[in-house]
Amino acid sequence: MSAVEVIGASKIFNQGTTKQVDALIDVNLTVNPGEFVSLIGPSGCGKSTLLRLIANLLEPTSGSVSVNNKTAAQARLDQDYGMAFQQAGLFDWRTVSKNIELPLELKGWDKAKREARAKEMLELVKLPEFADLYPWQLSGGMQQRIAIARALAAHPPLLLMDEPFGALDEMTREYMQGELLRICGETSTTVVFVTHSIPEAVYLSNRVVVMSPRPGRITEVIDVDLGSKRNEDTRAADGFFKSITAVREALRGTHADHAAANAIRGVEDR
Ligand code: ADP
Repeated sequence: MSAVEVIGASKIFNQGTTKQVDALIDVNLTVNPGEFVSLIGPSGCGKSTLLRLIANLLEPTSGSVSVNNKTAAQARLDQDYGMAFQQAGLFDWRTVSKNIELPLELKGWDKAKREARAKEMLELVKLPEFADLYPWQLSGGMQQRIAIARALAAHPPLLLMDEPFGALDEMTREYMQGELLRICGETSTTVVFVTHSIPEAVYLSNRVVVMSPRPGRITEVIDVDLGSKRNEDTRAADGFFKSITAVREALRGTHADHAAANAIRGVEDR
C-alpha cells in the first residue's frame, strides 16, 4: 500500500485560453508509508500545484491521484492528511489549545477527548505550558510548531507541508527541521514537503523530487542516503554535501548528464 500515488497527472490552468498555463505535465510519483519526500524546484515549477492535487484542493486535468489507496477526494473527506503552510494560519481569537482542537471539533470529537489530545500534542511539540496563551503571544517558530501540532492532532497518516519554515530565521529553521523529524518519527507520519532550500530538502528527506518549470514536470528523483537518525552532525557529514551537490546539479539539469557521462566512461574503461 502506498501513502500517495500520482499517476500520469497533468494540471493545465485556463485550458484553451490565451492564459493557459501547463503547470504540471505527466507527473508520476509514489510515496511509501513512513517516507519523507521533498519537492524542490524554481518558483512556478508546480510544487504547490502538485501538493494541492495530493490534498484534493485541485483536480488533475488528466491522470489520477490516490492517497492511502483511496481517491484523493475520499482521503480529504476522511481527513487522512494534515496540512501546514508558510504562514502558521492560527486563529488569533482562539487559544493555542483551541487552535489545536479545531480539526477535532470538525470531526465531532467531544470536549474531554479534544482537550486530552491537544495536551498530548502540546507535549509532542514541547510547548505544554502555552496551552492557554494566544498565538500572537508566541514567536514565529512556536506558532509554526502549534500549526504542526494542529495538522497532526487527528493523527493523520500523512502530512502535507508547503514551505512551512520559509518565514523563519536560519537558526530557528534548522531547529524546526530537527523537531519535525523527531515528531514525524514518533508519530510514524509520512511527509510530502515543498521547499526552495536544497540543504533543507536533503536534511529532511529520504528522497528529493526535483522539478523544472514550463511545463512543470519531475526531472529527477534523488535518494538521500543519510540513515534514519539525523542530528546536527548530519549537517557536517560527507553524505550531506554529496547529496546537496547531486540535488544542485539536478536543478541545473547537469546531474543526469554527468551520470550518463560516467556510465559511458565506465563502459569505455572496461
Ligand atoms: P511553485 O509552487 O513551484 O512556485 P505553483 O504550483 O504555485 O508553482 O505554480 C505553477 C504554475 O501554475 C505557475 O506558473 C503559476 O502561475 C500557475 N498557477 C498556479 N495556480 C494557478 C491558478 N489557480 N490559476 C492559473 N495559474 C496558476
